[in-house]
Amino acid sequence: MSSTPQQSQEISIPDLRSDLAGEVIGPDDAAYDEARQVIFKGIDRRPAAVARVAGAQDVARVITLARETGLELAVRSGGHSRAGYGTSEGGIVIDLSGMRGLDIAPDLKTAWVETGMTAGEYTTAVGERGRATGLGDTGSVGIGGITLAGGIGFLVRKYGLTIDDLLAAEVVTADGEIVQASEQSEPDLFWAIRGGEGNFGVATRLQLRLHEISQIVGGMVMLPASPEVINGFIGAAEAAQDELSTIANVMLAPPMPFIPEEAHGKPVLLGMLADVGPADQAESVLAPFRALGKPYADMVRPIRYPEIYEGEGPEVRYAAGTNFFTDALEPTDAATILEQLHQSTAMMKAVQLRVLGGALARVPNDATAFAHRDRGLMVNIAAMYMDPGEKDTHDAWVAGLADSLGKDEAGGYVGFLGEEDEGTVRAAYPGPTWDRLRGLKRRYDPDNLFRLNHNIPPADG
Ligand SMILES: Cc1cc2nc3c(=O)[nH]c(=O)nc-3n(C[C@H](O)[C@H](O)[C@H](O)COP(=O)(O)OP(=O)(O)OC[C@H]3O[C@@H](n4cnc5c(N)ncnc54)[C@H](O)[C@@H]3O)c2cc1C
Repeated sequence: MSSTPQQSQEISIPDLRSDLAGEVIGPDDAAYDEARQVIFKGIDRRPAAVARVAGAQDVARVITLARETGLELAVRSGGHSRAGYGTSEGGIVIDLSGMRGLDIAPDLKTAWVETGMTAGEYTTAVGERGRATGLGDTGSVGIGGITLAGGIGFLVRKYGLTIDDLLAAEVVTADGEIVQASEQSEPDLFWAIRGGEGNFGVATRLQLRLHEISQIVGGMVMLPASPEVINGFIGAAEAAQDELSTIANVMLAPPMPFIPEEAHGKPVLLGMLADVGPADQAESVLAPFRALGKPYADMVRPIRYPEIYEGEGPEVRYAAGTNFFTDALEPTDAATILEQLHQSTAMMKAVQLRVLGGALARVPNDATAFAHRDRGLMVNIAAMYMDPGEKDTHDAWVAGLADSLGKDEAGGYVGFLGEEDEGTVRAAYPGPTWDRLRGLKRRYDPDNLFRLNHNIPPADG
């Protein structure tokens, strides 16, 4: 499908500028230092050019250029890849952030969105029409990256993953062709991009299903953490109806103004709750959580759905992390988490527990490239730090805690992985998924042009 790269390693910024409708930023431009950055500010790479593309034709042109020159190709939507896959040392970056078009269908059932939009911008815009699509927990994440990874967020138990609401995508493939992928058109490609991330092409537009959601009962509750509280929270989340999705962050309380001073540095469970069921039943849905103890803060209240995305975390330079799926917490896991949190020297560290099930689990495992639907819980361990010299310490802490919690048994979610070995990427695609993906990679990207990602190598032969 693709021609062999010529490895000339040279690009002309003026030529590229004249070829594209969008903007091209090179090392001599004032905007270069901002344009080469991603969310993790410690990632300091110097691409040959950042192409802020204006549409699928621009994307096709840059893909062709990368093939012709052999330069590394990075694709960036919101720039949240922990591995920094949205930027490149010496390569070309396709930066989709200039593509933020949104076209809501007149019946308000679907919307086409360009992949440079963030999850928060999309949610705010469709929220103005009383509609929503489930994305993640952070507004600044790019809609391109999160959707192709799977998308686990505040509506996961009611409506499933973001990919379960993905109806079609416009994709530019490795040979520069602009194709429409859906159940009817290029169904194999459509299967692969629902969980296979950017391995198969650059998604320029996504058609997403909209749900009628305006008011919800949701927000943050912070409880003193003990094994009983952690297990109680998870048990309540598992027992709740699908209308309730939760995220439990077990961490040491940061010194923030809304947290009482006596709690600073103490173990807390920062829970995010989103109940999209009838408002008059919310009190009984939330009662088991409120019975867990006197909270340090309880901000759960009736809100407009987009408000759940308000507020961003602190600026982060580096993050160590790992994640895995499992069926449930073992009885001693909560105590292990609390013990080991105290042993980390990272500026911020947390173990995030997300109870899954519901609509996510009602889709068969082989329906999409995301194949963890039979697992009831996702465990995500992260340690944030500022000094690159501390990398080994925090990587070791994350790995040690994951081992103590039995990570060996299960693969993880690609969306939360960093730079990984092939074994870890492979484990993220369990069962026959990996081999099917490798076969499709051979068909759609035989030369592995899209390799700056959690890479799925093309099948041999
Ligand atoms: C603070 C934070 C919170 C998060 N919360 C959640 C959450 O609640 N739920 C969840 O599911 N995930 C979550 N994630 C993970 C997140 O979804 C993934 O990291 C995702 O890949 C980020 O997408 P991005 O577009 O912002 O990142 P980018 O760095 O731009 O892209 C990430 C990867 O996707 C590829 N890519 C991006 N856009 C496209 C495209 N249009 N076409 C082809 N390839 C593309 C890139 O090449 C790269 O390999 C979170 C991440 C962070 C850092």
